[in-house]
Amino acid sequence: MTERVEAVVVGAGVVGLAVARALAQRGLETVVLESETSIGSGTSSRNSEVIHAGLYYPAGSWKARLCVAGKQRLYRYCAERGIEHRRCGKLVVATSAAQQPALTALLAQAAANGVHDLQRLDAAAARALEPALSCLGAVLSPSTGIVDSHGLMLALQGDLEAAGGAVALASPVQAVRAETGGFVLEVGGEVPTTLHTRVLVNAAGLWAPALASRIAGLPATQVPRAYFAKGNYYALAGRAPFSRLVYPVPEAAGLGVHLTLDLAGQARFGPDVEWVEPDSQGRLDYRVDPGRADGFYADIRRYWPGLPDGALQPAYSGIRPKIQAPGEPARDFLLAGPAQHGLPGLVNLFGIESPGLTAALALGDVAADLAQAGR
Ligand SMILES: Cc1cc2nc3c(=O)[nH]c(=O)nc-3n(C[C@H](O)[C@H](O)[C@H](O)COP(=O)(O)OP(=O)(O)OC[C@H]3O[C@@H](n4cnc5c(N)ncnc54)[C@H](O)[C@@H]3O)c2cc1C
Repeated sequence: MTERVEAVVVGAGVVGLAVARALAQRGLETVVLESETSIGSGTSSRNSEVIHAGLYYPAGSWKARLCVAGKQRLYRYCAERGIEHRRCGKLVVATSAAQQPALTALLAQAAANGVHDLQRLDAAAARALEPALSCLGAVLSPSTGIVDSHGLMLALQGDLEAAGGAVALASPVQAVRAETGGFVLEVGGEVPTTLHTRVLVNAAGLWAPALASRIAGLPATQVPRAYFAKGNYYALAGRAPFSRLVYPVPEAAGLGVHLTLDLAGQARFGPDVEWVEPDSQGRLDYRVDPGRADGFYADIRRYWPGLPDGALQPAYSGIRPKIQAPGEPARDFLLAGPAQHGLPGLVNLFGIESPGLTAALALGDVAADLAQAGR
C-alpha cells in the first residue's frame, strides 16, 4: 500500500506526541508512527514523573530553556486539561560541608536560567519542613512537582486527534529515503506500507540514532553514537517519610539517588546510573537487580538515617538515551534540523533524556518550527 501524508512523527512517547500535536494544530495532516502496541511504552513511562524547575542545566542550553518554558506550560496545561499533578516542591540537600558550595552554585545556576523562587535553608529550617531529614543545609525549589505522565500523553493524543491527526500503533519505521521535496518511509506491521511525507520528525527516543542511520541521504556524520544509561528504582515499603521530593547534590551522569513520590504518595528511590548495551537482537534489559539496592542504603541514609534495613524493593527501571560516552561531559538535547544536515523538513531529536518530560510542550513547538523552516 502507498500513502501520502503531510507530516510524520516517529515515536509516540511524550515528545513525539507533543511535536505531532504542534504540527497538527498548525494545520498539517500529521500521523505518528509507533512500533509498539500502545503509546508511551518507552522512556516516557519509565521515569521519575518529576516536573523539573530548571536548576541544573547550563544557561542558554536547550535543556535549560525548554525546561523552564516547558514547566510553565505544563502546569497550565495540566490545570486546563484536568491532568493529575502536584506542585509538591523539592529539597536539594548538602550532607557534608564539602557539598555546601554546590548548593551556592545551584542557586546561581538556577538564577541564570530564570528560576528565581529558590530558598536557601539551614539545617534547622530544612528539618522544620521535613522532620525526618538529616542535612547541613538545603535549597528549596517550590516550583518542582510531579505529574501523571500517562494522563499527559493521553491529553496530547486527544489534542492531536482533535486537530485531525492520528497515531498508528504497531507501525515500525524500517527504512527512510530522502527524495526531492520529502521522504519515503517503509513501514512494517500487519499491512506493510510505503508512506510519502514532506515533514519527518524522528522522536524515536533511545532508537533515534538507529533510525537516523537508516535515512538514506542523511550523511553519517549527522548521526551521533547512542549510549544507554539505565536508572534503577526501588520502592519503599511503608509510609513515605517526606512530603517533598528530596535530592542530594547532583552527580556526573544523573541527579543522584533521590526520593520521588508518586501521586498516590508512594515513595521510591532512584535512579542510579548503570551503563548498559543492547543484546545481539537489539533489546535492552529493563529488569531491576535486587542486589543493586545494597548500594542505595548508604547513599539514602546520608539524608534519611531512619531508612530501615530491608525496606527497598526492586520497582522498575528506565534507560537514558545518552549521546555521550561514559565519563564524557553531559551533552545538551540535540535538535538537528535542516540548518545542520541540509534536508528540508527533517528533524532528528537526539539525546532527549531528562528533563524531556517537563520540556515536552516547549520542545514540541521548537521541533515543529525547525521542521517547517524554509517550507
Ligand atoms: C530514569 C529516567 C528518569 C527520568 N525522569 C524524568 C523526570 O523526572 N522528569 C523529566 O522531565 N524527564 C525525565 N526523564 C526524561 C524523560 O522521560 C524523557 O526525556 C522522555 O520520556 C522522552 O520521550 P520521547 O518521546 O523522546 O521518547 P520515548 O518515550 O522513548 O518514545 C520513543 C518512542 O519511539 C518508538 N520507536 C522507536 N523506534 C521506532 C521506529 N523505528 N518506528 C516506530 N516507533 C519507534 C518507541 O517504541 C517509543 O515509544 C527521565 C528519563 C529516564 C530514563
